Amino acid sequence: MAIVKKSPEQIEQMAAAGEVLVKTMNLLASKIRPGVTTLELDQAAERFIRSQGCEPAFKGYRGFPGSICASPNSMVVHGIPGSYTLERGDILSIDIGVVRQGWVADAARTFAVGPISPIAQRLLTVTEEALHRAVPQCVAGNHLGDIGHAIERYVEHEQGFSVVRTLVGHGIGRDMHEDPQVPNYGKARSGVLLEEGMVLAVEPMVTVGTRDVRLAADQWSIFSADGTLAAHFEFTIAITGDGPRVLTPWHEADGGGRVAA
Ligand code: MG
Repeated sequence: MAIVKKSPEQIEQMAAAGEVLVKTMNLLASKIRPGVTTLELDQAAERFIRSQGCEPAFKGYRGFPGSICASPNSMVVHGIPGSYTLERGDILSIDIGVVRQGWVADAARTFAVGPISPIAQRLLTVTEEALHRAVPQCVAGNHLGDIGHAIERYVEHEQGFSVVRTLVGHGIGRDMHEDPQVPNYGKARSGVLLEEGMVLAVEPMVTVGTRDVRLAADQWSIFSADGTLAAHFEFTIAITGDGPRVLTPWHEADGGGRVAA
């Protein structure tokens, strides 16, 4: 396993990709409503990403046909955008990858389509909170297992939902998927020592029911095996000398984050 560390200048490049990603996420947030198809969201995202001189990282990745992944309800990840029409009460996970000048940013967020059920709302709140709890673990001197441990402990032991085991986060940089793998479960103080310059895509995937998933007939979409709701939240996070830096800060109201020099 070879972990490619990034210089501060390279992290600025990745932050610039992340800035375009956040704007894309905000654009989709403004378009998500009942009656909209996931293909319409995909086309809006692709148009915007290309207008910024960037490329959608997922398009053509191992043959994936979409520019984004759009995964409703019990679909966990990797949904192919298409004719699915959003309905009031749905939840929809949107995963976006942006390549800017050879550097990749990756992030995801699950949206409510209109008012949703109390259990769906709790799933979104818990999964997003799990991601936020993972961020402060991304510091030099910690171990990889500290990240997964923080997520697993909160989601499973404190909230009673399940963390998907067979899909994990990853290192990211010039390639979308670099070493190391970043599980959303694990033992504290175990695994690779985290060092300044590492950049990780941390992405808890959480289900209301059991942790098992199944691959759909399209060979891409992954559903919760028991058909219960699933949520997915993701940041690209750099481990810097100043602590963790979220390079895809879609949670900031202004869509800002630090601007690349
Ligand atoms: Mg990812």
